[in-house]
This record gives sequence, structure tokens and C-alpha cells, in this order.
Amino acid sequence: MSLLVVGSVAFDAIETPFGSTDKIIGGAATFISLSASYFVKPIQLVAVVGYDFPQADIELLRKHGVDTEGLQIKADEKSFFWKGRYHNDMNSRDTLITELNVLGSFDPILPESYQTCDYLMLGNLAPQVQKTVIERLKKRPKLIVMDTMNFWMDTALDALKETLALVDVLSINDEEARQLSGEYSLVKAARKIQAMGPRYLIIKKGEHGALLFGEGQIFFAPALPLEEVFDPTGAGDTFAGGFIGYLAQQDKVDFVTMSQAVLKGSAMASFCVEKFGTERLINLSAQDIAAREGEFKKLVQAY
Ligand code: AMP
Repeated sequence: MSLLVVGSVAFDAIETPFGSTDKIIGGAATFISLSASYFVKPIQLVAVVGYDFPQADIELLRKHGVDTEGLQIKADEKSFFWKGRYHNDMNSRDTLITELNVLGSFDPILPESYQTCDYLMLGNLAPQVQKTVIERLKKRPKLIVMDTMNFWMDTALDALKETLALVDVLSINDEEARQLSGEYSLVKAARKIQAMGPRYLIIKKGEHGALLFGEGQIFFAPALPLEEVFDPTGAGDTFAGGFIGYLAQQDKVDFVTMSQAVLKGSAMASFCVEKFGTERLINLSAQDIAAREGEFKKLVQAY
């Protein structure tokens, strides 16, 4: 099944209590695509980078089955750059720098063959841009999953609500769910957010796992307790990539398959945080993923 991923492809600089990196490849769509590539290929990518983006990193995406026909390269602008610093608990971070550069004027142009995609993953981007992508499709995909962040709730709430009304699944963290709904209880928050459009809602709780709401049911997947979390950047996107990649592979969108997809996403995210940036995601084997899934099963199986 065809999967279209739209989002940022970027340079990130990261500081954690364990070290720091200079500009390395990052961006929501990068993490989503790499993660999804372990389940479905090819992946259609719509994103924009600048003249400074290394060809080797584009090749890396191609090597993972990412079709880069929809990747725009702007000859006169720099790539999106984000710098973040994690606190000691690694659960919270401060954004130190956001240089939109090419992303400031991003027009998501969909190549003809992308306009009939079966599955669509809208990575964190301005909600107006996410909506434009949906409007440019020739047919409605079987499933549209959308990620967003508190920044858009603060600055573009109306546009965010318009886009929300068009999607099937929203993936956000607990703090964002509370902000969007004005409810502290996540069960109440989920009900309110579902009433805004998405039939399904995923609430990510970092090292405390993720909840899936839909069809009147709730599913919970823990996060794997890891000895060392090196860099959480992109964990949410990696989760989303595994989630939609698995659904596209199975070509099913019911609650049970989505619960399985939440486990796949959680397994992928647990790899992501073990190294800086995309480092751990680029060399995984099917055995690595199967072993990690086994650890997840053991974690929750009492009898
Ligand atoms: P996550 O850790 O899942 O929240 O995702 C981190 C990724 O999101 C980084 O690789 C950044 O390049 C990217 N990112 C950060 N801020 C933005 C933004 N405003 N728009 C698009 N992508 C962003």
C-alpha cells in the first residue's frame, strides 16, 4: 500500500546531559520515513530542504526506500534548523533555536503519483500546510494520521481545528492533549478531541507509554524501560512512522490492528532514543525489531 509522508526534513543540533551534536540530519518526516521504511516501501516524501542539505543524506533516505521525487531543494535558501536542549530528566526540553528558512514558505507540491496515496502521514507542520496537502489529493486516503504540537495550539488554533476536522487519527503528547481540550483527565480530553474530528486519538506519555482511544475502547502500550536514554529527539515521529507503516503494510485500520501498530511504533521509538538523531534507526535488522517486540510482550504478559 502506498504511504505518503509530509513533514520537515531538517538539521538538528541537540544538547543532552550526555553530550551534544553539531548539525545532524533530523526533521519529523525524516524520522517518520526511516521508521516506516521497516514496514512498507516505497515511501513517498513531500518536504523541502535548502542548498546546504548534503546529497549523502538524501541518498541515505533513498537507500531506505524513500522516493524523493517530492523532495524540493531550494537553491537560494537554507534548510530548516532546530536546536534543543534536554533537561536532566530527559522528558522535557527547551527549544533554543528555530530557523524556519525553507519551511517558512513551504508549498507542499504533490507529484501526480502521490495524489492517490492509500495512507497519509502528516508530520508536525503548520496546520494550514497540512490542510493544503489533504486538499491536493485526488482521492481520500484510507487513513490520515496527523501529528502536531503546542506551538500551533498557541499560534494557529483555528487553522489547527479546521485541519483536525479532516483527519482520522491525531497523535499528540499528554500535555498537548490537556491544552487542546482544556481537560486534565485524559479520558475526558480524548472525548473532546475526538469530537473535533479524529475518530482515533493517540496520547503519548514519553517514558510512560502511549494510549490509543477509538471505537469506544482504550488500549495502553508501555514504553520499554531502557537503561540509557541518549536522545529522545524524534521519538514521537519514529513512533508515528512505525504506527502508520505497520497499518499500511497490513492494509487494515480497525482498533485491533491499530493496537498492534501502537506496539510496533513503541518498539521503533525505543530504538530511536538509544543514540543521537537517526543513528540507531538507519541500521536495524528485522531480527532486531522482532527481538524488541518480544521484550515488549514479556513486559506485559503476566500469565
Ligand atoms: P519530536 O522529538 O518527535 O518532537 O521531533 C523532533 C523533530 O521535529 C526534530 O528533528 C526537528 O527538526 C523537528 N521540528 C522541531 N520543531 C519543528 C517545527 N516547528 N516544525 C517542523 N518540525 C519541527
